[in-house]
Amino acid sequence: LTAAIYLGRYRRRVLLLDAGKSRAMQIPESHNHPGFAGITGKELLEKLRRQAERYGATLRPGEVIQLSKLSQCFVGTTNGATVHAMRVLLATGITDQVPDVAGIDEAVKQGTIRYCPVCDGYEAMDQTIGVYGTYPDALEKARFLRTYSQNVTILPLEPPDDRSAAIEAGITIAAAAPFEFKTSSKGIAVTLSTGETLAFDALYPTLGCRVHSALAQRLGARCTDLGLLVVDDHQQTTVEGLYAAGDVVSDLHQLCVGESHAAIAATAIHNALPPVFR
Ligand SMILES: Cc1cc2nc3c(=O)[nH]c(=O)nc-3n(C[C@H](O)[C@H](O)[C@H](O)COP(=O)(O)OP(=O)(O)OC[C@H]3O[C@@H](n4cnc5c(N)ncnc54)[C@H](O)[C@@H]3O)c2cc1C
Repeated sequence: LTAAIYLGRYRRRVLLLDAGKSRAMQIPESHNHPGFAGITGKELLEKLRRQAERYGATLRPGEVIQLSKLSQCFVGTTNGATVHAMRVLLATGITDQVPDVAGIDEAVKQGTIRYCPVCDGYEAMDQTIGVYGTYPDALEKARFLRTYSQNVTILPLEPPDDRSAAIEAGITIAAAAPFEFKTSSKGIAVTLSTGETLAFDALYPTLGCRVHSALAQRLGARCTDLGLLVVDDHQQTTVEGLYAAGDVVSDLHQLCVGESHAAIAATAIHNALPPVFR
């Protein structure tokens, strides 16, 4: 949407095809987006949509299931239509791996389950926090969360061999793996395989994610080991004319990061295309 705003203002014809599953829709209220004391993800998306349309962008629901490259342009196939474009910007994001918790959507809405301490660690100030996942990643997230709370407990999938780094950082490690999660308006209760139950105000899963880079990979674009698209200073992938922005590029999953990528990519795309003199 940010790239569509920029490209519309550069007087380019823009088509935005969106499968409609933005992670931003899950944001209960963001407090770290500059300029907004607090804004829900849905509200922000709506503002961006309206702004993109004001500058002439066409927004269409639909999933691109195939992308190919001809000599002069790209061809995108959706269910039912074929689209040609001189340049393509992928902002296809990621999907979080989620824990097996009944009522998880409601828990995310209430802030009981959170994915990203960079986004909302501040709001967990002095709360009792659980971090659930594979040990090295959980340790990294737990250390970050110590900025905000003295009560951080790792709930590891497998017990770690070496606990020294956690002990040094003042982080507790649960005695056994979690067996069951129960959310309520007050927080989340985690029952361990030993039968012991621990109560948390907030739980941060660290179970990884699926990166939506397959369309680009099929065109030969290079990826990191995590599946993130490799881009140059102009957000261009290793496929000429194919650009990428946001979570599909960076594991600093932040609105501002994606928006900055989009501004850079849109400007590079405009400068690379034949001019539109008035
Ligand atoms: C619970 C939660 C809270 C968060 N809080 C914050 C916060 O406070 N501050 C902050 O900065 N960030 C926050 N984030 C992170 C933020 O939402 C993401 O970093 C941001 O949405 C990434 O933007 P994106 O455009 O890369 O991907 P997304 O916003 O996820 O959008 C990707 C879009 O591409 C579409 N798509 C994928 N594949 C295709 C295809 N083949 N064809 C067509 N469309 C496709 C998807 O359906 C989706 O609509 C939060 C995330 C979550 C889940």
